[in-house]
Amino acid sequence: MSDLQNLVKLQKIDSELQEIIDLLGDLPAKVGQLHQEELALVDEVEQGEQRLKEIDLELSKNDLLEKESQEKIEKLKNQLFLVTNNKQYDAITHETDHLKEELDKLETIELELREEKTALDETTKSKRLNLDSLRSDLHQRMGKLEKVIAQNDEQKQNLEQKRAEQIKVIPANLLSRYQRVYKARDGVAVVKLIGSACGGCGSVVPPQIATEIKAGKGIKICDVCSRFIYFDNN
Ligand SMILES: [Zn+2]
Repeated sequence: MSDLQNLVKLQKIDSELQEIIDLLGDLPAKVGQLHQEELALVDEVEQGEQRLKEIDLELSKNDLLEKESQEKIEKLKNQLFLVTNNKQYDAITHETDHLKEELDKLETIELELREEKTALDETTKSKRLNLDSLRSDLHQRMGKLEKVIAQNDEQKQNLEQKRAEQIKVIPANLLSRYQRVYKARDGVAVVKLIGSACGGCGSVVPPQIATEIKAGKGIKICDVCSRFIYFDNN
Protein backbone atom coordinates (compact mmCIF):
# COMPACT_ATOMS: atom_id res chain seq x y z
CA MET A 1 0.00 0.00 0.00
CA SER A 2 1.36 3.42 -0.91
CA ASP A 3 1.75 6.25 1.61
CA LEU A 4 -1.22 7.98 0.04
CA GLN A 5 -3.42 4.89 0.31
CA ASN A 6 -2.42 4.62 3.94
CA LEU A 7 -3.42 8.24 4.49
CA VAL A 8 -6.78 7.57 2.82
CA LYS A 9 -7.31 4.67 5.19
CA LEU A 10 -6.33 6.77 8.21
CA GLN A 11 -8.73 9.47 7.13
CA LYS A 12 -11.57 6.92 6.96
CA ILE A 13 -10.79 5.65 10.46
CA ASP A 14 -10.59 9.20 11.83
CA SER A 15 -13.87 10.16 10.19
CA GLU A 16 -15.64 7.14 11.68
CA LEU A 17 -14.14 7.92 15.07
CA GLN A 18 -15.31 11.51 14.86
CA GLU A 19 -18.80 10.34 13.92
CA ILE A 20 -18.97 8.20 17.05
CA ILE A 21 -17.63 10.99 19.25
CA ASP A 22 -20.28 13.33 17.81
CA LEU A 23 -22.99 10.72 18.25
CA LEU A 24 -22.05 10.03 21.85
CA GLY A 25 -21.91 13.78 22.37
CA ASP A 26 -24.02 14.65 25.36
CA LEU A 27 -25.47 11.19 25.99
CA PRO A 28 -23.50 10.66 29.22
CA ALA A 29 -24.66 14.08 30.38
CA LYS A 30 -28.25 13.09 29.56
CA VAL A 31 -27.96 9.99 31.73
CA GLY A 32 -26.70 12.17 34.57
CA GLN A 33 -29.62 14.53 34.05
CA LEU A 34 -32.17 11.71 34.28
CA HIS A 35 -30.51 10.51 37.44
CA GLN A 36 -30.74 14.02 38.91
CA GLU A 37 -34.43 14.13 38.00
CA GLU A 38 -35.03 10.93 39.92
CA LEU A 39 -33.17 12.23 42.98
CA ALA A 40 -35.12 15.49 42.88
CA LEU A 41 -38.38 13.55 42.74
CA VAL A 42 -37.51 11.40 45.72
CA ASP A 43 -36.37 14.48 47.57
CA GLU A 44 -39.64 16.29 46.89
CA VAL A 45 -41.71 13.41 48.24
CA GLU A 46 -39.51 13.10 51.31
CA GLN A 47 -39.65 16.80 52.00
CA GLY A 48 -43.42 16.75 51.66
CA GLU A 49 -43.71 13.88 54.11
CA GLN A 50 -41.32 15.57 56.51
CA ARG A 51 -43.33 18.79 56.41
CA LEU A 52 -46.57 16.85 57.03
CA LYS A 53 -45.05 15.44 60.22
CA GLU A 54 -44.01 18.93 61.30
CA ILE A 55 -47.50 20.25 60.62
CA ASP A 56 -49.03 17.54 62.82
CA LEU A 57 -46.64 18.46 65.59
CA GLU A 58 -47.40 22.17 65.23
CA LEU A 59 -51.13 21.41 65.19
CA SER A 60 -51.01 19.44 68.43
CA LYS A 61 -48.93 22.16 70.13
CA ASN A 62 -51.36 24.76 68.87
CA ASP A 63 -54.29 22.69 70.09
CA LEU A 64 -52.78 22.55 73.55
CA LEU A 65 -52.33 26.32 73.64
CA GLU A 66 -55.91 26.83 72.45
CA LYS A 67 -57.23 24.62 75.26
CA GLU A 68 -55.15 26.49 77.82
CA SER A 69 -56.54 29.80 76.64
CA GLN A 70 -60.09 28.46 76.69
CA GLU A 71 -59.68 27.13 80.20
CA LYS A 72 -58.28 30.44 81.41
CA ILE A 73 -61.17 32.29 79.80
CA GLU A 74 -63.64 29.94 81.55
CA LYS A 75 -61.95 30.51 84.90
CA LEU A 76 -62.07 34.27 84.46
CA LYS A 77 -65.76 34.04 83.56
CA ASN A 78 -66.42 32.29 86.88
CA GLN A 79 -64.35 34.86 88.74
CA LEU A 80 -66.57 37.60 87.37
CA PHE A 81 -69.35 36.39 89.71
CA LEU A 82 -67.12 36.93 92.67
CA VAL A 83 -65.94 40.48 91.98
CA THR A 84 -66.77 43.11 94.54
CA ASN A 85 -65.78 46.28 92.73
CA ASN A 86 -65.42 47.86 89.31
CA LYS A 87 -61.63 47.81 89.39
CA GLN A 88 -61.60 44.03 89.73
CA TYR A 89 -64.27 43.75 87.08
CA ASP A 90 -62.24 45.86 84.63
CA ALA A 91 -59.07 43.89 85.32
CA ILE A 92 -60.80 40.57 84.60
CA THR A 93 -62.51 41.92 81.48
CA HIS A 94 -59.20 43.24 80.25
CA GLU A 95 -57.45 39.94 80.79
CA THR A 96 -60.30 38.06 79.13
CA ASP A 97 -60.09 40.28 76.07
CA HIS A 98 -56.40 39.70 75.86
CA LEU A 99 -56.86 35.93 76.09
CA LYS A 100 -59.59 36.01 73.42
CA GLU A 101 -57.21 37.84 71.12
CA GLU A 102 -54.59 35.18 71.75
CA LEU A 103 -57.13 32.46 71.08
CA ASP A 104 -58.11 34.17 67.86
CA LYS A 105 -54.50 34.17 66.67
CA LEU A 106 -54.12 30.51 67.58
CA GLU A 107 -57.25 29.63 65.66
CA THR A 108 -55.98 31.48 62.60
CA ILE A 109 -52.71 29.56 62.80
CA GLU A 110 -54.66 26.32 63.11
CA LEU A 111 -56.72 27.15 60.05
CA GLU A 112 -53.62 27.94 58.00
CA LEU A 113 -51.89 24.76 59.11
CA ARG A 114 -54.94 22.66 58.25
CA GLU A 115 -55.14 24.25 54.80
CA GLU A 116 -51.44 23.62 54.20
CA LYS A 117 -51.86 20.05 55.38
CA THR A 118 -54.80 19.32 53.09
CA ALA A 119 -53.01 20.66 50.02
CA LEU A 120 -49.66 19.06 50.83
CA ASP A 121 -51.29 15.76 51.73
CA GLU A 122 -52.89 15.58 48.32
CA THR A 123 -49.81 16.51 46.28
CA THR A 124 -47.47 14.32 48.30
CA LYS A 125 -49.80 11.34 47.99
CA SER A 126 -50.07 11.69 44.23
CA LYS A 127 -46.30 12.20 43.94
CA ARG A 128 -45.70 9.12 46.04
CA LEU A 129 -48.08 7.18 43.82
CA ASN A 130 -46.36 8.46 40.67
CA LEU A 131 -42.88 7.95 42.01
CA ASP A 132 -42.66 4.28 41.11
CA SER A 133 -43.91 4.68 37.56
CA LEU A 134 -41.75 7.77 36.99
CA ARG A 135 -38.77 5.94 38.39
CA SER A 136 -39.22 2.92 36.17
CA ASP A 137 -39.70 5.23 33.20
CA LEU A 138 -36.47 7.06 34.06
CA HIS A 139 -34.62 3.79 34.56
CA GLN A 140 -35.81 2.54 31.22
CA ARG A 141 -34.60 5.67 29.46
CA MET A 142 -31.30 5.55 31.32
CA GLY A 143 -30.87 1.88 30.41
CA LYS A 144 -31.40 2.60 26.72
CA LEU A 145 -28.89 5.44 26.76
CA GLU A 146 -26.35 3.38 28.64
CA LYS A 147 -26.69 0.62 26.08
CA VAL A 148 -26.06 3.04 23.23
CA ILE A 149 -23.06 4.43 25.08
CA ALA A 150 -21.64 0.97 25.71
CA GLN A 151 -22.09 -0.12 22.08
CA ASN A 152 -20.45 3.01 20.77
CA ASP A 153 -17.70 2.76 23.30
CA GLU A 154 -16.84 -0.67 22.03
CA GLN A 155 -16.81 0.53 18.44
CA LYS A 156 -14.71 3.50 19.47
CA GLN A 157 -12.15 1.29 21.13
CA ASN A 158 -11.94 -0.91 18.02
CA LEU A 159 -11.36 2.11 15.84
CA GLU A 160 -8.75 3.50 18.21
CA GLN A 161 -6.93 0.20 18.00
CA LYS A 162 -7.12 0.25 14.20
CA ARG A 163 -5.85 3.81 14.22
CA ALA A 164 -2.90 2.91 16.41
CA GLU A 165 -1.97 0.20 13.90
CA GLN A 166 -2.53 2.44 10.91
CA ILE A 167 -0.29 5.29 12.04
CA LYS A 168 2.60 2.86 12.43
CA VAL A 169 2.81 2.43 8.64
CA ILE A 170 2.83 6.14 7.87
CA PRO A 171 6.16 8.05 7.86
CA ALA A 172 6.40 10.44 10.81
CA ASN A 173 6.73 13.65 8.79
CA LEU A 174 3.73 12.73 6.68
CA LEU A 175 1.70 11.85 9.73
CA SER A 176 2.45 15.13 11.45
CA ARG A 177 1.51 16.99 8.28
CA TYR A 178 -1.74 15.00 8.11
CA GLN A 179 -2.52 15.85 11.71
CA ARG A 180 -1.88 19.55 11.19
CA VAL A 181 -4.21 19.67 8.19
CA TYR A 182 -6.77 17.46 9.96
CA LYS A 183 -6.97 19.96 12.81
CA ALA A 184 -6.96 23.04 10.61
CA ARG A 185 -9.53 21.68 8.15
CA ASP A 186 -12.27 20.39 10.44
CA GLY A 187 -11.23 16.77 10.36
CA VAL A 188 -10.88 16.44 6.60
CA ALA A 189 -7.23 16.13 5.53
CA VAL A 190 -7.49 13.69 2.62
CA VAL A 191 -9.91 14.34 -0.23
CA LYS A 192 -10.81 12.98 -3.65
CA LEU A 193 -10.03 14.66 -6.91
CA ILE A 194 -13.38 15.68 -8.29
CA GLY A 195 -13.20 16.34 -12.01
CA SER A 196 -10.07 18.44 -12.02
CA ALA A 197 -10.71 20.13 -8.67
CA CYS A 198 -9.76 19.57 -5.05
CA GLY A 199 -12.60 17.71 -3.31
CA GLY A 200 -12.02 19.76 -0.18
CA CYS A 201 -12.04 23.38 -1.27
CA GLY A 202 -13.05 23.13 -4.92
CA SER A 203 -9.94 24.82 -6.31
CA VAL A 204 -8.90 23.69 -9.74
CA VAL A 205 -5.76 21.59 -9.72
CA PRO A 206 -3.17 22.28 -12.47
CA PRO A 207 -3.58 19.74 -15.33
CA GLN A 208 -0.11 18.28 -14.86
CA ILE A 209 -0.73 17.66 -11.15
CA ALA A 210 -4.19 16.26 -11.87
CA THR A 211 -2.68 13.79 -14.27
CA GLU A 212 -0.14 12.73 -11.66
CA ILE A 213 -2.85 12.33 -9.05
CA LYS A 214 -4.81 10.12 -11.43
CA ALA A 215 -1.68 8.08 -12.08
CA GLY A 216 -1.21 7.68 -8.34
CA LYS A 217 2.21 9.29 -8.45
CA GLY A 218 3.46 10.28 -5.01
CA ILE A 219 1.82 12.64 -2.54
CA LYS A 220 -0.09 15.57 -3.97
CA ILE A 221 -1.29 18.49 -1.95
CA CYS A 222 -3.86 21.18 -2.77
CA ASP A 223 -2.12 24.57 -3.12
CA VAL A 224 -5.08 26.35 -1.58
CA CYS A 225 -6.26 24.23 1.36
CA SER A 226 -3.19 21.99 1.85
CA ARG A 227 -5.30 18.81 1.86
CA PHE A 228 -3.95 15.59 0.39
CA ILE A 229 -5.68 14.78 -2.89
CA TYR A 230 -6.18 11.26 -4.19
CA PHE A 231 -7.91 9.75 -7.16
CA ASP A 232 -10.75 7.36 -6.66
CA ASN A 233 -12.10 5.89 -9.87
CA ASN A 234 -15.10 4.29 -8.23
ZN1 LIG B 1 -8.14 22.30 -1.65
